[in-house]
Amino acid sequence: MFEYNHILAAVDYTVEARLVLQHARSLAERYGADLTLLHVVELMPVVGGIESFSYVDLYADQPELIERAENDLKKLAAEEQLSGTNLKILTGVPKVEITAYARDNDIDLIVVGSHGRHGISLILGSTANAVLHHAKCDVLAVRV
Ligand code: AMP
Repeated sequence: MFEYNHILAAVDYTVEARLVLQHARSLAERYGADLTLLHVVELMPVVGGIESFSYVDLYADQPELIERAENDLKKLAAEEQLSGTNLKILTGVPKVEITAYARDNDIDLIVVGSHGRHGISLILGSTANAVLHHAKCDVLAVRV
């Protein structure tokens, strides 16, 4: 019988993230699989018309943002009875980091929400769409 061994749940912090987590948790329980929760912190570059622009300014808040994201992910996991789960925070473009993490860590199923902040008007959100096309493993897009 086919079994998933390592499931990756990609979570943003929309209210729908809980649904993604609940599906991932239930599949992990069913297959006895490891579960990793991943959030990607997007660092937004500020461009144009800023005289004092510098990379130092641009990335000054990075440690604070990452720390906040870590705390929020811990809190979300605890609230969904997933405290012992592997939690991962990365920085970059979500679709790129999610597929790269899955490739490098022997993930055999990625669980994403059908929509989040990037894709309300699309059939699938832009992250879900890109992950579906580029991941080498199975992808479950939870309808949110
Ligand atoms: P979106 O592309 O914003 O419509 O999001 C669709 C789904 O991609 C969300 O429900 C999440 O599962 C995932 N996703 C979006 N942004 C992130 C992020 N920053 N970190 C992790 N997963 C994300």
